[in-house]
Amino acid sequence: MSKTLSYAALNAKSALVPFVFDRRTLQATDVLIDILYCGVCHSDIHQVRNEWGNSQFPMVPGHEIVGRVKQVGSAVQAFKAGDVVGVGCMVDACRTCPDCLDNLEQFCNHPTFTYNSDDLKFGGRTQGGYSSQIVVEQHFVLRISEKLELAAAAPLLCAGITTYSPLRHWQVKAGDKVGIVGLGGLGHMGVKFAHAMGAEVVLFTTSAAKVNDAKRLGAHAVVISKDPAAMQAHLASFDFILNTVAAPHDLDAYTSLLKRDGVLCLVGVPDQPHPSPSVGNLIFKRRSIVGSLIGGIQETQEMLDFCAEHNIVSDIELIPIQQINTAYERVLKSDVQYRFVIDMASLNDADGG
Ligand code: NAP
Ligand code: ZN
Ligand code: ZN
Repeated sequence: MSKTLSYAALNAKSALVPFVFDRRTLQATDVLIDILYCGVCHSDIHQVRNEWGNSQFPMVPGHEIVGRVKQVGSAVQAFKAGDVVGVGCMVDACRTCPDCLDNLEQFCNHPTFTYNSDDLKFGGRTQGGYSSQIVVEQHFVLRISEKLELAAAAPLLCAGITTYSPLRHWQVKAGDKVGIVGLGGLGHMGVKFAHAMGAEVVLFTTSAAKVNDAKRLGAHAVVISKDPAAMQAHLASFDFILNTVAAPHDLDAYTSLLKRDGVLCLVGVPDQPHPSPSVGNLIFKRRSIVGSLIGGIQETQEMLDFCAEHNIVSDIELIPIQQINTAYERVLKSDVQYRFVIDMASLNDADGG
């Protein structure tokens, strides 16, 4: 066991506070990682505030982790001390079910998520990346190119794979017309990836102030989604729309923009349901509404390698962990450019060091 500094939520109502807990002893197939940076995902806020109804406390959030390997177990060959690595939303799964065998561990019926999850192998609850170190089974450790700016690479571990995976699965290709809804942590990565894949990218936003940034990030056009005339101009024209919005809203506004056989993919997970979508909008052009959950470990590595090749990272605001509660308030106001990342070196300041 090793003492680990962190910030934790002690209940669903109060601010995150400094917290000390033990990480498990290194096993033969484990990697011990000193955490350098951890991104702040909107899912952290949903869970800290128990908006999905499954939260247990104390909870150390964080699943966009970049760090340096400190030590490896006796059976680990793929990693060595000093390597730069990442950890995303999962730290284990059953490894034997059809989903795991298809490299889609995110759909395993018995996954172990990085935090707020029962640790099915070692007991207790998992604790995430707002902490000084983490111990992870080697299969769930990702390699990160040192070519990338490491702080800005952290959000790739969730925001990156969550947007890359559906664009790949629904085979977005050069020339396709792709919509991205919401310019937050996920949305800005969706714009970058769809652009890198050669699509014609249209960003839908509720924030007029984000128009220039969206274009700088790779959008060919930007639509203020509250403007009905601007929405109408794109009727029945999209191959694929990726919707990252974290709040319930009218999906018909987007299904009506799909061409025949077009797909609206939901990745945002609001705490309340969306209003029921119009069936007419779907059947008359055989449109689909689908969902997607992060991505498997193999595809996450593929995405990280794609990012190294295309020099893609997140646009971030680097913060000390002492600012985490203010950062949450700003995310809730859609006021972040475009992902907060915690500099974990600041943890020592929190402890008076
Ligand atoms: P985020 O940074 O807060 O971005 C969400 C964006 O949605 C905002 O920046 C805003 O963009 C837009 N938005 C917010 N409220 C809105 C409203 N009421 N109506 C319309 N648009 C609104 O959040 P994130 O970290 O990207 O996460 C987005 C969602 O995805 C969360 O629900 C999160 O839990 C979920 N998520 C899912 C997965 C998965 O595997 N499926 C993985 C990670 C996260 P504009 O200002 O441009 O309008
Ligand atoms: Zn996330
Ligand atoms: Zn499984």
